[in-house]
Amino acid sequence: MLELFAKQEKVYPKRVWGKYRKLKWITMILTLGIYYLAPFIRWERGPGIPDQAILIDLPARRAYWFWIEIWPQEVYLLTGILILAAIALFVVTSMFGRVWCGYFCPQTVWTDLYVWVERIVQGDRAARKRLHEGPWTFDKVRKIIITHFIWLVIAWCTAGSFVLYFNDAPTLVRSFFEFNVSPTVLGFIASLTFSTYLMAGFSREQVCTYMCPYARFQSAMFDRDTLIIGYDTDRGEPRGKHKAGDSWEGRGHCVDCTACVQVCPTGIDIRNGLQMQCIACGLCVDACNNIMDKLGLPRGLIRYDTVNHMEAEVKGGKEKFNIMRMRTLYYATIMAIVGGIMLYALINRTELELHVLHDRAPVFVQLSSGEIRNGYTIKILNKTHDNRTFTLDVDGLPNAQIEVKGAGDVDDKHITVSADSVGEYHVFINADIEPGAPRDITLTLTDRDNGIKDEYTSTFISQRK
Ligand code: SF4
Ligand code: SF4
Repeated sequence: MLELFAKQEKVYPKRVWGKYRKLKWITMILTLGIYYLAPFIRWERGPGIPDQAILIDLPARRAYWFWIEIWPQEVYLLTGILILAAIALFVVTSMFGRVWCGYFCPQTVWTDLYVWVERIVQGDRAARKRLHEGPWTFDKVRKIIITHFIWLVIAWCTAGSFVLYFNDAPTLVRSFFEFNVSPTVLGFIASLTFSTYLMAGFSREQVCTYMCPYARFQSAMFDRDTLIIGYDTDRGEPRGKHKAGDSWEGRGHCVDCTACVQVCPTGIDIRNGLQMQCIACGLCVDACNNIMDKLGLPRGLIRYDTVNHMEAEVKGGKEKFNIMRMRTLYYATIMAIVGGIMLYALINRTELELHVLHDRAPVFVQLSSGEIRNGYTIKILNKTHDNRTFTLDVDGLPNAQIEVKGAGDVDDKHITVSADSVGEYHVFINADIEPGAPRDITLTLTDRDNGIKDEYTSTFISQRK
């Protein structure tokens, strides 16, 4: 049968020691530690308010991040954070290449964890390869069952931790032990468990190669001053096996041991040049450095370097690392602007907001007294954690009278709004004026305790068009 596609080769990354492997362990422990433990951090906000430091409270429509409380109306702050994160990623990528992919991306971190489990249970690369390609024996079944069981436990903990960000963590954990968890929560956990198990256990490097859009477009952020993983062809070639005591004259320093290929989590040979699959994890650097140490040769045949720096070295010159350049300055400027806007929005965040919507039908009525009446729906956002009483006034209409209707503790134009809630009322404004063109009016809401105000400009209509 005609094969249209090459068969996917299973990758069995070999264990390696070195500086970058150590860095990967550290980032893995830190990122996983933060992810699993952050929902348990408490942050006192007062009675009746959740004390979870990081929480997305969907039923109450609030997001909490330590001292910041975000209302649905302030979702632009989340948008700003996402934009900032994206630009920060661009800056880091243009300076240091794919370090996000190699060290911090969840796909990399969980895959690394799963490979570690696989290695503990089934052995290093050669043993795993033998086990998978060999016949089904009791030992093979046992090892595979243990590996998949641990993977599933990790996936379940990962999914459970994700759900904790949307619920009070200690309460939800307790309800697990009491077998009292809602089907919705269980459904989420089941689907996230499955996706983690699938992505980190099976899809692995294929996610980076075929599914991740960032892998595709990030080369647009690279230039000749971006740090990439590079093989020093001038020093390494011509490659070939080397026996102890053989001369290094007329040949390169690469002994074709393939250690760099065997440790690569994406299964590529970096000696063929930078490839889209390379996630800049640096494990091939560690592997090659270890070989160079054994051979008594200088380290760095494979290294993090820039194209400009490598080319300058070949010519015998020295090129400085050019971290700050136009591209990174552009990104940094955009980051500064977006960050500045967000900071301004956060500093000037008010705890009181007034929104006014003019009635559509009827747009006005004329009362038997001759006065003109307009109706409005007002929404008052009381973002404080105390009940508040407000006074509503109108400017722009002589002798205007305000009547506030609706549920709640309303006394004439005095309006009470409960703590941390939105008060909605219907308001009539009556004015003894001659019919004419629409007039601009300003509704002012004043907190009776502290005098804090918010205004909203609307229209008063007194005749049909
Ligand atoms: S080539 Fe090296 S840096 Fe790139 S993914 Fe493979 S091991 Fe990591
Ligand atoms: S680890 Fe170094 S010496 Fe060995 S094949 Fe790779 S580049 Fe050559």
